[in-house]
Amino acid sequence: MSLNEFDIIQQYFSKITTPRNDVMTGIGDDCALLVPEPGKILAVSTDTLVAGRHFLADVDPASLGHKCLAVNLSDLAAMGAEPCWVSLALTLPDVDENWLKKFTRGFAQLAEKHGLQLVGGDTTRGPLTITITVHGQVEADAALTRSGARSGDLICVTGKLGEAALVLKKLLDGDAVDEDARLALERPQPRVATGVALKGLATACIDISDGLLADLGHICSASKLKAELEKVAVPGSEATLNHEILLDFALTGGDDYELCFTVPEKFKDRLPEIAQQTEVSISVIGRMTEGQGIEIFDENGTRMDMPEQQGYMHFS
Ligand code: ADP
Ligand code: MG
Repeated sequence: MSLNEFDIIQQYFSKITTPRNDVMTGIGDDCALLVPEPGKILAVSTDTLVAGRHFLADVDPASLGHKCLAVNLSDLAAMGAEPCWVSLALTLPDVDENWLKKFTRGFAQLAEKHGLQLVGGDTTRGPLTITITVHGQVEADAALTRSGARSGDLICVTGKLGEAALVLKKLLDGDAVDEDARLALERPQPRVATGVALKGLATACIDISDGLLADLGHICSASKLKAELEKVAVPGSEATLNHEILLDFALTGGDDYELCFTVPEKFKDRLPEIAQQTEVSISVIGRMTEGQGIEIFDENGTRMDMPEQQGYMHFS
């Protein structure tokens, strides 16, 4: 017998995360009732993942559960917010219990890791689509935004860039992909601890979801400044032997979910400590200056041509 909407909610969603003290009412009423900490503001972000557009339809459901939450957590990380609550709107073509079990396992494991409680959502029938809204909290004056960079600030990124886009290309081309590389695409780790640690240090921050150039470009326009990058300093992943190709992926590939941020030079010495504490590498890749747009310089200091397509766009 097939499960109805309420059975699905009861069986697969109602108790998959640990209850938090600041949830007055969670799943089961018309709204969730949540109690923010005094003095903090809410940081709210929504992302939708559509089968065939944001993920391959045959992806492992547990990886999908992980990833659709990870991309939302990455947005909280970029603002320096601490994750608290999440809601999940799920559109399913049919009730596949095996799929639901795996999906909720991947989702719940990442939620637990970051102390998030699933507090509500919606369950409907239609083409497979997942919409998640995460809610975080941050001190009223401490949120990191795109607009705070200042001329002279160093530009930094966490982790290694380009691997997810490279793996996706290989999968689409039907090439072999080893399991570790596949994790970069399917199980990105949102840099939540790093974002929180950067409060008070970073002047601007964004997560890299559409490619470094595209996302850093948002910091430039919001901060009304130019970015000057050193190509050799951009941390490409080791997934390929061909460094030139890799760098193109690192500059313009999507789906990395690393952080790109700016810091005043006086905080440079703090970066290794933050990297160590939050278990991710941090690379200084350039500097903000007066002007607009992005310029990239090679190892001889020569300005390079910019790639034509600077990142992923839905409507181009
Ligand atoms: P309503 O009709 O009032 O919108 P629903 O029948 O859609 O309520 O949902 C019942 C309860 O289950 C609500 O509290 C809702 O937030 C929750 N819910 C529905 N779908 C999900 C889901 N996929 N994940 C988590 N909670 C869900
Ligand atoms: Mg509803």
